[in-house]
Amino acid sequence: MALQMTWQPSLLNLKRRSGPPLGLRNLGNSCYLNSVLQCLTYTPPLAQFCLKSQHSSNCDLATEKKSECPFCILEKRIVRSLSIDSALDTPMKINNCLRIFAEHFRCGRQEDAHEFLRYVIDACHNVCLRLKKLQQMQLQRKKGGGHGGGGGNTVVKEIFGGALQSQVKCLSCGVESNKVDEIMDISLDVLHSGSLKEALNKYFQPEVLDGNNKYKCDNCKKLVAARKQMSILQAPNVLVIQLKRFEGIFGGKIDKGITFEEVLVLSSYMCKASQVRA
Ligand SMILES: [Zn+2]
Ligand SMILES: [Zn+2]
Repeated sequence: MALQMTWQPSLLNLKRRSGPPLGLRNLGNSCYLNSVLQCLTYTPPLAQFCLKSQHSSNCDLATEKKSECPFCILEKRIVRSLSIDSALDTPMKINNCLRIFAEHFRCGRQEDAHEFLRYVIDACHNVCLRLKKLQQMQLQRKKGGGHGGGGGNTVVKEIFGGALQSQVKCLSCGVESNKVDEIMDISLDVLHSGSLKEALNKYFQPEVLDGNNKYKCDNCKKLVAARKQMSILQAPNVLVIQLKRFEGIFGGKIDKGITFEEVLVLSSYMCKASQVRA
């Protein structure tokens, strides 16, 4: 199934096509919830997946149980935001079932938007994995025996999933060691940055490990100075960036403005192997 990365206006309600997004009323400390919902609603491939009921039509839960499925709840919310003919709405339903996404979240309590987003994305990803497993089992039963292929790919991972490479190069013998991490987002320090670009440059700038922070080289078999370099191995279709606005544990909030340009070019942050492939 191919992702629809750009908006298909025919799927949107006339008001949403020509006017501003639907406003969401604050239900008391629910700004974190509303901002996450707005971001997800305006993520074109996810919104279009929901507008076509591509999750709920495949969901194995009975209709009355669908109100307990995280992806069904999210799909309903996104469809409502993009199809009702009003200027303002109250996200009461989703506020009342916060615990389905994250057990420790409570209505009316101040929570962290990034943490909530992580829970929503993980919950929907896990629903998809469960459905996929179920479908494979049914298929195997029909065919009789055999092992299903598959892997952990889901629509959620297809939209938000990418991979980072962390490379450490020994400055004594030159041997490189690479580690790959799958990601669903990138968290950037903004304490010493005024723009997204600056923060990204810092994140991807090489770092020398020396002094107290020496690296144990498997080849040299001792602690050595090394250079560490992060890069993007696989760029996600939709890159989620979190700006870390908390300064340490007891620090205050970093509430300065962080500027960003309309277009973000990732090519200079890609790892060399990926640049050649692209
Ligand atoms: Zn469902
Ligand atoms: Zn070495």
